Order: sequence, then structure tokens, then C-alpha cells
Amino acid sequence: MNIEKNNMKGELLHSRFLNDHGIGILMRIKHHEEGRTFNAYQILAQALDIPTLEEMVRKNIFFLPMYSPASISAVQIPESSIVISFDIHFIIKIGCLHTVAVLLHEIGHTMNPNANWMTDEFYADDFVISHHFKDQLLEMLDYGIINFPETYNKPITYDRISRIKNL
Ligand SMILES: [Zn+2]
Repeated sequence: MNIEKNNMKGELLHSRFLNDHGIGILMRIKHHEEGRTFNAYQILAQALDIPTLEEMVRKNIFFLPMYSPASISAVQIPESSIVISFDIHFIIKIGCLHTVAVLLHEIGHTMNPNANWMTDEFYADDFVISHHFKDQLLEMLDYGIINFPETYNKPITYDRISRIKNL
């Protein structure tokens, strides 16, 4: 990948964050591979292609960090926007590649052209898989069932898992 393309992706992704704090946290979450160190922000930028990032700009899709159990942010966004919020404490806990998988899933929802984009888990899962984070997605679904059973110990989660395994 050439530097110009990387710079453009970096700028487009940067413009999607409602404050720099979220970027700073993603940059602190590291992944080590073959003697090199990457961070979650770099890996997310690398995973997304320019058309997807441009669509995120067109659709007013933004990222907003939050701190569990609750936090406030002062932001200015266009009237019709989609905000992907992520819990800073949680992503630090799950680590770099799983954070990217989780964010890709949410981006996948927003890329779904159908009316049921918010509830179509399969489409969002396929987006993650097409970006090569299938293993991390499966691990996060297992994690959800164990750690957040009231949300994830449901038939839809098991349907998602068996569907992904059979792809
Ligand atoms: Zn989802």
C-alpha cells in the first residue's frame, strides 16, 4: 500500500471520530506480530478500504468513546448521523484484534443498505468476516455468552455462531 493511500485513509478515519480521545485510546491498544507492534487504530485503518470510509463520511457515521458505567461528551454532529459508541474500559480489556472485530461489526451494520440494518446481525457479521476477523468475532460471541448472558445467551447468538462456523 502506498503512503498517499494510507494518508488518505488515515484522514478519512480521523474525521469519523467525534473527539481525539477515542483515537488516543485505540492507539494505546497494541498488537504484536512477527516482531512488529501495531495499534488498534492502525489495524482498523488498514482493514477499511477508501470506498467504505467515504461511505462513512457520506452517511455521517461517527465514533464516540464512552467510559463505563456512564460518561458525557459534548459534541456537534449533523442532524442525521449514526454514532458508534465504544466502551473504553471494555476494549482495553478485550485487546487489539478483538476491538477491531467489534468495531468492524458495528461499521458493518451501518453499511447494510437494507431497512433492517440495525437488527441484521448476519450482514454485520459477514462484514467482519470479509475483513478477515472471523476468529476474533467468534471469540467475542463466546465471550458475550459467558460474560453478558442476559444480552448474548439467546438463540440469535447461537444462530450467528453456527452460521459463521458453516461459512
Ligand atoms: Zn450487531
